[in-house]
Amino acid sequence: MLSDSARFSSVEWLTPNLEPPPALRDFVSAEESTLGDAIAFPGLINSHDHLAFSCYSPTGSPPYLDFLAWSRDVQAKSEMIERIERIPYAVRVQFGVLKNLLWGVTVIADHGGRQNCLSLPIAIMRHCTLHSPELEKWASLKLRFGGSTIVAHLAEGVDDASRERALALLRWNVASRPVVGVHCVSLRDADFAKLAALVWCPASNFFLFGRTADIAQAAAHTRVLFGTDSPLSAPGTIWDHIRTARAYFSGEALLSSLTAEAAHFWGLPDSRAADNFVIARRRAASAWDSFYAITPSDILLVVHDGSPALIDSRLVEEIMLPGFEAVTCEGTCKYVKMPLNAMLEAVRSAAPDFDCDALLERFCTGAL
Ligand SMILES: [Zn+2]
Repeated sequence: MLSDSARFSSVEWLTPNLEPPPALRDFVSAEESTLGDAIAFPGLINSHDHLAFSCYSPTGSPPYLDFLAWSRDVQAKSEMIERIERIPYAVRVQFGVLKNLLWGVTVIADHGGRQNCLSLPIAIMRHCTLHSPELEKWASLKLRFGGSTIVAHLAEGVDDASRERALALLRWNVASRPVVGVHCVSLRDADFAKLAALVWCPASNFFLFGRTADIAQAAAHTRVLFGTDSPLSAPGTIWDHIRTARAYFSGEALLSSLTAEAAHFWGLPDSRAADNFVIARRRAASAWDSFYAITPSDILLVVHDGSPALIDSRLVEEIMLPGFEAVTCEGTCKYVKMPLNAMLEAVRSAAPDFDCDALLERFCTGAL
């Protein structure tokens, strides 16, 4: 058993029970002089996002009793929706991937996303989903007649009716299909035992409802994974969300819900752990304080499946990185393995009045 962190050279590895990957050790020993003091951890797994919604900003007039009222307010913004949906679907997904990459995420569960053949620097998982059972035809039958894990927004509201609708749906799960509930704000106590896992999205819950699920009860009855949800309902970066979650979880448990626990639950290969890691600038004496203080500008390196996907300009010269393009993030320059200029050009062409600078600012700072 290792301690909560392991220091080697100028880097502290922040993962209980997992050796630092050999590739990380090699990189640190080669780059120590430019790296400076840093922390490192496995690539994050964002267990809930909607990549195609990443060009939106938080919308609505919260607080709400349930997501249905919020959804009506969003749908009423038809002009905004029409303007954003002019951007091609694949490009909106690319921006969702860029957002996650800037945050240090290497695997994303894309709820309801469509298959596409984009070449991407990080991984997208897609599962059988019920978007929101209340709005989906034949939701109970879809739950009943299927075998694989199914992911659904459940109990997304603070009233008893939200809980009752979720429990009524789950009563149809007569074959004990693994159900992953997203949000589950109004579930109580043993309700959570009906779930194979809860995907907890605290930023979305607090934005829409001013409260979140009873996470201690949830953790007592099922696995708790961590998701950001889309910026339509979740202001801030994943790091702002993680800071919110600090009040509910120990650092080890929270990081595990974003890495090892999520990898195990989603069936990702064990070998993944050795090839996916993040190095971030150290901002505090304590490694955990430093973890909770991260903003996207602090991310120095993201490695996915053994290959760099994001590199801070302090570590490398652009000329050494064919296929990478530069993005400015809170005054720092990141090289990302994405066709950023083509993505921006696609937006300008399809939606000339869309503010790409504000979008990238939101990704990097969480500013509205
Ligand atoms: Zn969602």
